[in-house]
Amino acid sequence: ARKKIIAGNWKMNMTPSQAVELVNTLKDLVVNPDVDVVYCVPAIDIVPVVEAVKGSNVAVGAENFYIEDKGAYTGEISAPMLLDAGVKYVIIGHSERRDYFKEDDALLNKKVLKAFASGLTPILCCGESLELRERNAYKDWINLQIKADLEGVTADQVKTMVIAYEPIWAIGTGKTATADQAQEVCAMIRHTIAEMYDEATAEAVRIQYGGSMNAGNAAELLSKPDIDGGLIGGAALKPDFGKIVNYNK
Ligand code: 13P
Repeated sequence: ARKKIIAGNWKMNMTPSQAVELVNTLKDLVVNPDVDVVYCVPAIDIVPVVEAVKGSNVAVGAENFYIEDKGAYTGEISAPMLLDAGVKYVIIGHSERRDYFKEDDALLNKKVLKAFASGLTPILCCGESLELRERNAYKDWINLQIKADLEGVTADQVKTMVIAYEPIWAIGTGKTATADQAQEVCAMIRHTIAEMYDEATAEAVRIQYGGSMNAGNAAELLSKPDIDGGLIGGAALKPDFGKIVNYNK
């Protein structure tokens, strides 16, 4: 059985001192042996957050990185920097990076390959706009994203990664996908992985749902067979995050 993985995506929130305060507030609330817990935090918060989670069950992730190890790339941060700081996971291809910062599938594929080559675990995001959902084109869209972003990635690598299905219309809108809508797409992604690789790979890969997930809807979403966790924005910044992590209690 796949272990559930609940990750916070803090986005551009929390100064370094606020970040440490939040980690300390959540410390006793996010303990659940059935669940892997990850905080994906702004680059400037990584060092103090890694320090603050020491000795706890929480792993730290980055929200983004660049594909080169070092050099003249002003403003960017590399995989060796993240690893040296104690980071384990990295979000790749969040819809905000795709939309606002024009990251395309060709770059995201390079990021996925680089993450694996470096020893970071990708949390690869995919998901459709409202427009694609309304004209029933979302399945093809998501399959195209998955196929493009995973080009050249091996089955053994896919088994260790995380894929997050995040419908853009559900992000920060309070408009959660229904558990059935989320399950439909997560099952479809697993089916696509089985076609691209094999059944064992599809059974191993963990697929999260993200988009207005909160303490009130987490248990139902996470009861679905193909939803292995959540990628949580707004609700990850509050003590309520502990209730999501303990959705099964
Ligand atoms: P919200 O939980 O704030 O809707 O954000 C979801 C998200 O984008 C997580 O990556």
